[in-house]
Amino acid sequence: MIKYFIYCRKSSEDEDRQMLSIDAQLSELKAIAVQNGCAVVETFTESMSAKGPGRPIFNEMLARIDRGEANAILAWKLDRIARNFDDGGKVIGMLQRGQIQEIRTFEKTYLPSDNVLMIAVELGMANQYVRDLSVNIQRGIRERVRRGIFYGKAPLGYMNEPTLRTIEPHSEDFPKLKRILEEFAEGKYSMTGILREMTRVGLVGGQMRRGLRLSSVSNMLQNPFYYGAFYHKGVLHQGSHVPMVSKKTWDEIQRARVAVAKPRQRRGDKGLEFLNFATCGSCGHCITGERHTKKSGLRFYYYRCTHKNAKRGCQSTTFIRQEKVAEEVKRNVRLVSLPDEWKERFLAKVETWEAEDSTAKQTQLERLRGEQGALRVKIDRLNAAFTDCSIDLAEFKELKNPLVSRKVELEAQIASLEKTRANRVEPVRNWILEANHGGKLLSDENFGEMKLFLRKVGLNRVFRDQTLTVSFIKPWDSLAQTVESSFADNEFPHGSEKWWR
Ligand SMILES: [Zn+2]
Repeated sequence: MIKYFIYCRKSSEDEDRQMLSIDAQLSELKAIAVQNGCAVVETFTESMSAKGPGRPIFNEMLARIDRGEANAILAWKLDRIARNFDDGGKVIGMLQRGQIQEIRTFEKTYLPSDNVLMIAVELGMANQYVRDLSVNIQRGIRERVRRGIFYGKAPLGYMNEPTLRTIEPHSEDFPKLKRILEEFAEGKYSMTGILREMTRVGLVGGQMRRGLRLSSVSNMLQNPFYYGAFYHKGVLHQGSHVPMVSKKTWDEIQRARVAVAKPRQRRGDKGLEFLNFATCGSCGHCITGERHTKKSGLRFYYYRCTHKNAKRGCQSTTFIRQEKVAEEVKRNVRLVSLPDEWKERFLAKVETWEAEDSTAKQTQLERLRGEQGALRVKIDRLNAAFTDCSIDLAEFKELKNPLVSRKVELEAQIASLEKTRANRVEPVRNWILEANHGGKLLSDENFGEMKLFLRKVGLNRVFRDQTLTVSFIKPWDSLAQTVESSFADNEFPHGSEKWWR
């Protein structure tokens, strides 16, 4: 007697999008069972990817087959059962040993006697398909980023264009936000002021269309997307989307933002510049500040771990003086600052690259245009031969089709070359200027900006034994290493082109 388990699965993964819903799978399978008189013992449903092993309900089902509660599986398709070698192998083993006597899908029935190899192939293909898919998606994202298309949800004022999958200005929000940003750059609003104005004109975030929070407005104002660039994995890319404001206006927005963003000052916080800035190297909790006033009226500012992490005992018992924190902040900013002399040399180098780049492009364009012209002549000649009947239709097609597809390819190459002209070096140039700006902050002793700068170029700031360590992100990490190693000899590093590429 064959006893069936029905197994239905669907996940939110991309490759599962086209799959029937669990309910639909279930009703189809029940109909199949009725039609074929299959005895169904129990039904299992699971909302989970089968990319890797570790599905609890699937494992429970196999365990129960192992105990003899059923000896056949009814599933919509084979890839519902497994998409990885671990689970697929288990199922095949059970089928070979006869613990599973049949796997029935809506299109096929798999039996121990015949189709084991077939199943292996089909599961293997499913596995490979999954791997290819994720590689392809990654490649697709990289390619899109390279072409300057931001990957992700469109920022406020823009929309994701569904068919071309580009990011386009939102017909209503774009002009509204543009006006507000430009007014903000002129210093017209405080942070709450800009938020109020945005809410007033109906600029709200998210699908729920709820009002924005101050922190998201602050993030929005710092998003380089609005002047035409974007970050992908910490690297700034030149975007191909329509910018909302110029780079100059955007820089003014940053200045206005810093000017109005007064540090939150609670009572008693006055003078404590580095609250909520670093974490403790021993326990990972926040570093807090304290003020002590001596009888003489002298004030001292100290920082220490809040000791709030009960799970991980904290070994740090020392206090750090504010002067020491300031010194450490400056040391870290110096690590990611490009000295003026380097800046000049690098900018000069970028200029030569730009020139080389455009000559190389020009040569390439000329070559492509040459080929395009030659192709056009060939196609014309073929057309003429066909119309005066010296070749027949089959011959004509065979000769012409490859020429036409090459022509389309050429046109696309030429168009993209013309479009991307000189855009490649722009992010590098911006980065050089930004890194050089760090030096300016140092000489101004502008700690507010230095804190922002360090937050931007690093992931976290950890204090351990009186030393502040910042985990710099790319490409700042390489700069930090180079600067550190050149502190000793104070020389311009030779062969430095390697690291800042
Ligand atoms: Zn601690």
